[in-house]
Amino acid sequence: MRLSLLAAAALSTSLTTVAFAAEHTSDMTVGVSWSNFQEERWKTDEAAIMGALEEAGAEYVSADAQSSSAKQLSDVESLISQGVDALIILAQDTQAIIPAVQAAADAGIPVIAYDRLIEDDRAFYLTFDNIEVGRMQARAVLEAQPTGNYVMIKGSPTDPNADFLRGGQQEVLQDAIDAGDITIVGEAYTDGWLPANAQRNMEQILTQQGNDVDAVVASNDGTAGGAVAALTAQGLDGIPVSGQDADFAALNRIAQGTQTVSVWKDSRDLGAAAGQYALELASGTEMSELEGAEEWTSPAGTTLWAEFLEPVPVTQENLSVVVDAGWISQEELCQGV
Ligand code: BGC
Repeated sequence: MRLSLLAAAALSTSLTTVAFAAEHTSDMTVGVSWSNFQEERWKTDEAAIMGALEEAGAEYVSADAQSSSAKQLSDVESLISQGVDALIILAQDTQAIIPAVQAAADAGIPVIAYDRLIEDDRAFYLTFDNIEVGRMQARAVLEAQPTGNYVMIKGSPTDPNADFLRGGQQEVLQDAIDAGDITIVGEAYTDGWLPANAQRNMEQILTQQGNDVDAVVASNDGTAGGAVAALTAQGLDGIPVSGQDADFAALNRIAQGTQTVSVWKDSRDLGAAAGQYALELASGTEMSELEGAEEWTSPAGTTLWAEFLEPVPVTQENLSVVVDAGWISQEELCQGV
């Protein structure tokens, strides 16, 4: 009797909460500030965020900074002036974005640092385990090419993910480097993660090396595409290359054998969580109370609330995983084959 009363009380509380949340969130607007919306993956993230907001009856507004950290600051100001209740920010530059977080805090608006770290404990950091992504990239390339000359095509220098990835890659490669099995002969950041910049860097390294390159650890699928274009021009396509994001072009390169691995981060999950958390935070939930929240300290020493989702490596052996998950259809996967 006592138990069922308690259960009934719990049920009625949760029903009240749901009803309150639905009633409350239906007048809410969430603003999303994208840094570089041209990258394929962000369209999937956006659809998931919009889906979560729509389900709660909330509105979505957004802006794209087009790889400019200055534009991103004015974008966020404009989203704030449009009266958003919460902000989701994919930061172009982890430091340059801090005044925007300050402006949001001054206006009492919660912030989610989406996918990329913002070095500020007022922003909830929602991402994938980027160090593990780096490990997965290097592991697959090392397995395919255990010896020789390696090139590291890194991400944007203003995105902390670039160094998280690079750190994970180094962990995996270190023993082979120490044993003299592999040598890193070239390494470059990719400004703005732009494939054209990755291609130019790869071309320069190939020239310096007289094309004596055996493997490329590229940090995402866009930069992998740039690297593969440079390799193809020299007749070197087919050497191991990594990426991440499960972009359709990259999955097709994997099927064809010009890319070894992509790391699939189901951004449908990340986007849905961001939409839901934005509404919860705007309704007064504390960051520490969000479902997957854990305390985490950045390499620079900022302790903040964060959640890390699990990435999945995709190679020729398990390509079906992305088809089975409805990420890509079999027809789309065979497009380039
Ligand atoms: C993301 C990657 C993405 C890259 C370029 C990184 O911060 O984690 O998934 O490919 O930015 O947009």
